Amino acid sequence: MTGLNSANGNAPRAKDEPFVLPPNTDLAKFRRFLARATSIVEEVNVKVVNSQDDISQEEYMHPSKAHDMYHILEKTHFISSAVVAPRNVPDVQEVMKLANEFEIPVWPFSMGRNVGYGGAAPRVPGSVGIDMGKNMNKVLEVNAESCYALVEPGVCFFDLHEYLEKNNLRDKVWADVPDLGGGSVIGNTLERGVGYTPYGDHWMMHCGMEVVMPDGSLLRTGMGALPNPKADKSKPPHEQEPNESWQLFNYGFGPHNDGIFSQSSFGIVVKMGIWLMPNPGGYQAYMITFPRDEDLEQIVEIIRPLRIAMVLQNVPKLDNVLVSAALEGHRDSYSNSDKPLTEPELDKIAKDLGIGRWNLYGAMYGPEVVRDALWSVIKASFSKVPGAKFYFTQDRPDDVALKTRSNTFQGVPSITELQWVDWLPNGGHLFFAPIAKVTGDDAKAQYELTRRLSEEYGFDFIGAFLVGVREMHHIVCILFDRKDPDSRRRAHALIKVLIAEAANRGWGEYRAHLALMDQIAETYNFNDNAQMKMNETLKNALDPKGILCPGKNGVWPATYKKEDWTLHKP
Ligand code: ADP
Repeated sequence: MTGLNSANGNAPRAKDEPFVLPPNTDLAKFRRFLARATSIVEEVNVKVVNSQDDISQEEYMHPSKAHDMYHILEKTHFISSAVVAPRNVPDVQEVMKLANEFEIPVWPFSMGRNVGYGGAAPRVPGSVGIDMGKNMNKVLEVNAESCYALVEPGVCFFDLHEYLEKNNLRDKVWADVPDLGGGSVIGNTLERGVGYTPYGDHWMMHCGMEVVMPDGSLLRTGMGALPNPKADKSKPPHEQEPNESWQLFNYGFGPHNDGIFSQSSFGIVVKMGIWLMPNPGGYQAYMITFPRDEDLEQIVEIIRPLRIAMVLQNVPKLDNVLVSAALEGHRDSYSNSDKPLTEPELDKIAKDLGIGRWNLYGAMYGPEVVRDALWSVIKASFSKVPGAKFYFTQDRPDDVALKTRSNTFQGVPSITELQWVDWLPNGGHLFFAPIAKVTGDDAKAQYELTRRLSEEYGFDFIGAFLVGVREMHHIVCILFDRKDPDSRRRAHALIKVLIAEAANRGWGEYRAHLALMDQIAETYNFNDNAQMKMNETLKNALDPKGILCPGKNGVWPATYKKEDWTLHKP
């Protein structure tokens, strides 16, 4: 592959010689680039990726900023040559201009905790990582009356929650949080991650962005494009008081541009507004267990009308038995066999843990009288499934899964859900996440297909259905041993087959690991790839040198020969 230097961590190398150089860049050019980058952001904010330490950091709370901690290819495949951390918006603009001048690809990330999808690693080996979160990490504003926050890239869900707590604002507003609270609000939203309060669709709930474009210019989207008449024009643009409606109305005037900055390589987001949920004045999480595997169809048919009508106020999470089992213990605490768990074993786990083969988690928001009314409908509806059992959090004080969800569903972040990654030793994970309509038939068909293939490749099926409003994200967790090359190889082979089989049935993924972006992008090919052609046209117009995240989500700029770079070679 173009530009690959020795990726052998033991080879002697100079202090400023990375494992992998950027494409078409020799060491002398790389050094000149680094010197210039250092003059922009200062030495303490530039790090060459060249030591074992740089690639052995594998903890979620202290993530690697240089490579994918849950790698399925070699550890040093998706890796940066250096990481540069801008101190402010003008630094980001200067770094982009520098990258254009040197024609060196860059890859921005906010926290680097995008686990299961590639972490902080770039798609093109040797790109320069731009660590947006290290220095630009302020909650710029919380408006508890109009219920929004304005944040910088380094604000993670823990930070935003803590800010609300410290400023005694939780009794007024809640921030929605995803399963793992360490991700950044901006990174998670741009990647279209979800949480579980009624504000769980983060992209839907963002409002207004400030973006550095690939040429280094700066814009504000939506109402932010209209200057605030009271703003001090003597200040640099990024410091000028924004329009007072920037975080209140998403669309502004003319084409609505925000979408092109999501899962994209068209700009670096330096500020973003996110709506907060008003404290509902009362809250109750619940769990409903269903005893039989074949209950799935009926459960999903019951969920659809309730969710569309908002009787189910938040995203219901329907877990198969092993999601809870993995939260409670490692695989070897349940079975000695190295074969996928059998029906009797799964039934036994459910019985021992006092849970169902399927377990539905949800929450009700509002004063008691409202919750009582909702609960009477919810309980009556799910009671149609024989053997369904109903619990509130207080009924199961030792249930880790229920307790964790009860927190998450009210915007209290945690990292407890990370525990299930340790199902296998040296746990790594990949997510296969197809979208489908909310019908019993679709749920059953997806479950049958994904379970059959998971087991064929030697993995237990661990999965959940998350019902947005009119669709469901089916999240299949492929848990592998990342220190075992065979386990990694099987995981990678499995997900490739799943993507192809799903596309044959009209199911597409909503998000993907770096290694799979090309394959998935190719499945979205209606009318001779019309959408990809438009994305490429935009890419080449906005970023003619192709320096910002080449290859992200399968969009390759004209400066890269796609056939040489794609990882999908059918
Ligand atoms: P997390 O915030 O969950 O730790 P990352 O920081 O790893 O996630 O970001 C996930 C992905 O989102 C990155 O690989 C990048 O493609 C995109 N991204 C994150 N932050 C920004 C940003 N500020 N501007 C543009 N893209 C970003």
